[in-house]
Amino acid sequence: MENYFNNIINKTESEELSFDDIKFLLSLEDKNLLDKLFKKAYECKLKHVGNKVFFRGIIEFSNICKKDCYYCGIRKSNSNVERFIMDENDIINSAIWAHKQEFGSIVLQSGERCDENYVELVERILLKIKEVTNNELGVTLSLGEQTKQTYQRWYNAGAHRYLLRIETSNKSIYNKIHPENHLFEERLQCLYDLKEIGYQVGTGVMIGLPFQSTDDLVNDILFFKKMDVAMIGMGPYIVHKETPLAQYFENFDEMKEYQLNLGLKMIAVTRLFLKDVNIASTTALQTLDPIGREKGLLAGANIIMPNISDVRYRKNYQLYDNKPCLDENANLCRMCLEGRILHIGEKIGFNEWGDSPHFKKNN
Ligand code: SAH
Ligand code: SF4
Repeated sequence: MENYFNNIINKTESEELSFDDIKFLLSLEDKNLLDKLFKKAYECKLKHVGNKVFFRGIIEFSNICKKDCYYCGIRKSNSNVERFIMDENDIINSAIWAHKQEFGSIVLQSGERCDENYVELVERILLKIKEVTNNELGVTLSLGEQTKQTYQRWYNAGAHRYLLRIETSNKSIYNKIHPENHLFEERLQCLYDLKEIGYQVGTGVMIGLPFQSTDDLVNDILFFKKMDVAMIGMGPYIVHKETPLAQYFENFDEMKEYQLNLGLKMIAVTRLFLKDVNIASTTALQTLDPIGREKGLLAGANIIMPNISDVRYRKNYQLYDNKPCLDENANLCRMCLEGRILHIGEKIGFNEWGDSPHFKKNN
């Protein structure tokens, strides 16, 4: 087994890994081999994207959502959630704060809405942020499925990256975790539209979903390659008790370590396979382990998305249970993160947009 492992690990730079190679790596359980895998992925990151971690301050500005994804805590049907939308000026002020903190870029995220009021609001916010930061602050959007015209308007207003997870590349699982009017093909089409417009596109999946096999995860990684995306944002699936999908996990607490390791393995193998893309170490990892995000960086990720939303709103933006840092303000969050990152020997890319070398090469 160790020999087979070494063979695979030693060829990652010179040869493309096969389906079976990837599957073998994702199936590893041996602690010793896992450590070696993470080390190799970390070396691969250093070689292809360097030792800088980029911050994307994330502003979760509204939990109003017209969709009903079976896994998500802020789905339309969850009537326990108090709905909010941040005040326009508060959103802009958060962006200004991020700029002053020298975060090179921010992410605007919310539930999905497609009405004209909302589209205009986002457009105004983008124009304003670009104006007040002298076009220095990069803006990524994570606002779900929209028409191509809307994507184009937001692009024209200054957004240059878009995150839209495919959630799973297996259509039959996609159909099981969404209501029937949420279409896999439409989500896929959105990714094509975004690329065509010129966005740097990020996608990703939830890891450890019910119905998902290791083969599915291999296919997810092959999907990332086929889509030729610039960034990957993926994280372990975490139960939210008030959602339909929770019924498949009676004792999620017992699964935590498994989900965490699967998440880390996906990061490591994706790094080894795609090499020069940006990969986020997501908050879901930190939910499963207090130092989960650092573990993600050490397994090959190079992006962190600190939450810079106003603390007042955070308790109502719970996509899954036990989301961390609910009562920690943005300042504390920054200081805490900086210390954590320097501690593991990484640098922080202040004042840089931090585009992936992959995107730069392709453009
Ligand atoms: N509405 C937008 C953006 C907000 S949701 C959209 O859906 O694209 C952002 C991401 O949160 C989703 O893509 C999904 O992958 C993730 N998410 C939602 N519920 C989750 C859960 N229970 N566990 C882990 N990730 C979850
Ligand atoms: Fe809405 Fe996004 Fe949650 Fe789906 S995952 S319910 S679109 S916020």
